[in-house]
Parts: sequence; C-alpha cells; structure tokens
Amino acid sequence: MSPGEKPEKNEKNLFEDYRGVWVFIEVNKDGKVAPVSLELLGAGKRLAEKRKTELAGVLIGSQVKQLAGTVFEYGADTLYVYDDPIFKHYRTETFMRALLACTEKYKPEIILYGATSTGKDLASAVATDLPTGLTADTTILDVEEDTGLLLASRPAFGGNIMATILCKKYRPQMATVRPKVMKALIPEPGRTGTVIAESIPLREEDVRTKVLEIVRETIKRARIDEADIIVAGGKGLGSPAGFQLIHQLADTLGAAVGASRDVVEAGWIGHHHQVGQTGVTVTPKIYFAIGISGAIQHLVGMQNSGLIIAINKDPAAPIFQACHYGIVGDAFEIVPALIEAWNKA
Ligand code: FAD
Repeated sequence: MSPGEKPEKNEKNLFEDYRGVWVFIEVNKDGKVAPVSLELLGAGKRLAEKRKTELAGVLIGSQVKQLAGTVFEYGADTLYVYDDPIFKHYRTETFMRALLACTEKYKPEIILYGATSTGKDLASAVATDLPTGLTADTTILDVEEDTGLLLASRPAFGGNIMATILCKKYRPQMATVRPKVMKALIPEPGRTGTVIAESIPLREEDVRTKVLEIVRETIKRARIDEADIIVAGGKGLGSPAGFQLIHQLADTLGAAVGASRDVVEAGWIGHHHQVGQTGVTVTPKIYFAIGISGAIQHLVGMQNSGLIIAINKDPAAPIFQACHYGIVGDAFEIVPALIEAWNKA
C-alpha cells in the first residue's frame, strides 16, 4: 500500500461501525492501575458523554482481573481483559496483538493511551499495523459531537503554538496523552460495569521477544512526577559542581530534583529529571526554578504547579512572568541563605 492510500477495511463509509471511547489501562510495577490511566478515564468519560457512547478500558496483563473494580469506579462502563501469563511483562509484540484483535473485533471510535514509555510504544505499534493516525503527547482533548472527529491538541513548533491534529480518514482515532494534564473523576465506590474476558491464540514459543532479566533502576530521590516539592536547576548553575547546590536545597526541603533540558543535555543529571515539553509534566505544590531562564518548552512542563518560586540574576528572564514569587539575584548567594534560614527555623 502506498503512503496515504486508504486501506479497504477503514473506508470512510464504514465509520458508523466504530463506536465507543477506549482507554488502554496501564498497570504500574506495584500492580496498581497507573494514575495516567485514571486521568484518561476522566477525559474519556467527557468524550464518551459528548458522543453519547460508552467508555471502555482495555486491560492486558497477568493476574490483573482484580483491577476491574478500580476501572469502573473511575468511570468505565466496560472492561476488556486479556489476563494470561504471556502478558506478565510488557512486550510490544504480545500487547499489540491483543489490542489489535480487540480493536478489530469491537471497533472503537477513539483509543487513548498515557504518553508513558509503554503507552507511546504500544500506540505507535498499533497505529502502524491498523493503520491509522496517532497524535502523540496530547495536552487537550475534545470531540465533535455530531461527527465524532477527535480534536487532539499539543504544543508544536518548539512550543510556540498549539496544534490541533485531526485524523479524518481512519478509525479508530488514537492519541497518547501526557500524564498529569487530564483530571481523573472522583471515584464512585461500588460502581460496577461489564467485564469481557478476551484471549488470543498466542504461545510463548511464537513470541520473538524474550524477557531474560529485569534490572530495576535505583533512583535515590523522589520521582519528579510524584513529588510535592521540586527544586529545579538550570544552566545558570554553571557546572555539575554548581548544580550540587540544587541537590543541597532539595535535601534540606525533602524535595525532588528537576532540571532544564540544557542541564540534562550537558550530562549534569539524568533524563528522568527533565521538566518540560520533551521531559516530564509536573504539578507539585511548590516548584523552585533556579538559574532557569523560563523558555516556553520548560514552562509547559511546570506552569500548573501550585506555587512557583524563581531565582535568577537577570530581572528580564521570562521565568519572572510565570512565577508567583521571584528573587532577582545570584543563586550562589541566595540558595545557601535559604538553606541556612530553613535549618534555623
Ligand atoms: P538558559 O536559557 O541558558 O538560562 C540560564 C538562566 O540562568 C538565565 O536566565 C540566567 O540569567 C540565569 N543565571 C545565570 N547565572 C545565574 C546565577 N548565578 N544565579 C541565578 N541565575 C543565573 N527545555 C527544557 O527545560 N525542557 C524541555 O522539555 C525542553 N524541550 C525542548 C524541545 C524543543 C523542541 C526545543 C527546541 C527546546 C527544548 N528545550 C527544553 C530547551 C529550551 O528551549 C531552553 O533552551 C532551555 O530550557 C534553557 O535551559 P536553561 O533555562 O537551563 O538555560
């Protein structure tokens, strides 16, 4: 099939066969439903109500059936479950085959995935195979009530504009959505729905990817996507040694350490500390931006924090337009003074 050519099974005149909004339910390492999936159930519910259709979850894993209650409490009406030891670990091939089979059988109009490493990997594999379009890293979702056209918006051109991306030719329409940008519904304890157990004829010997060993990354500090307080540092700290000041303030406050992309690219700290458009979106109660200029690509990742405190020696730095409190001055004088004052308090 040449690029842009329409596959027969997805011809426009069959669009009416596609109904319902689905959320891929991701399971965290602790065996619980990932917070982003709960957020997507909230977002999906609003889309489903607008389209007067049902909201469903798709849960793939081993020994995961017991998570159905949570999925219903957070808004799903139906849950398709693939519960089999072959799905114990996430593998693109196995999860994709299950999701493709389910999609072809039930024909959802929309499928939402968390923009996590698993969600991004799975969504792109499914989109390629169906084939259909995929909007990555969405931050705003809406749907046209009468046509069902998904309006998936995301920052584009370096964060300077919001682009709304449409998938006019194919169904299902798919989007990955950033964690922490959608709101989960308030759970309704005891709310139930329909569980549909599904399976696919897949044997371990047919799967090309084998899990040989799981090596867990040890992260000493709190994760930035879960922390109440983040102390984030930028290039203004000057060097890896200067960046230690950020660690010192974070230790003092019991905070997580965040960083701008320039700091990550310089190798002063790992990528999972990067806040912003190509990093993590965070919404802590308090966000310190120290020696960070406040480029739009950084701001989109932290601007919804409860309280933003900026320290920068340039009074014209854009970060001062985005913060609640700003201190104009040298971080190497102000941060030690803050640490001292905190320790005395
Ligand atoms: P700078 O812009 O160099 O700012 C350093 C600041 O420190 C300055 O304001 C300076 O006044 C101040 N300063 C200097 N010395 C001191 C001192 N002693 N005390 C106090 N202040 C001091 N960036 C991100 O952060 N996250 C992203 O996810 C991201 N994604 C991007 C995606 C794309 C497609 C592109 C094009 C860019 C992206 N960027 C991202 C990069 C972004 O545009 C900026 O380049 C970056 O955020 C700047 O990092 P910074 O603020 O640390 O450095």
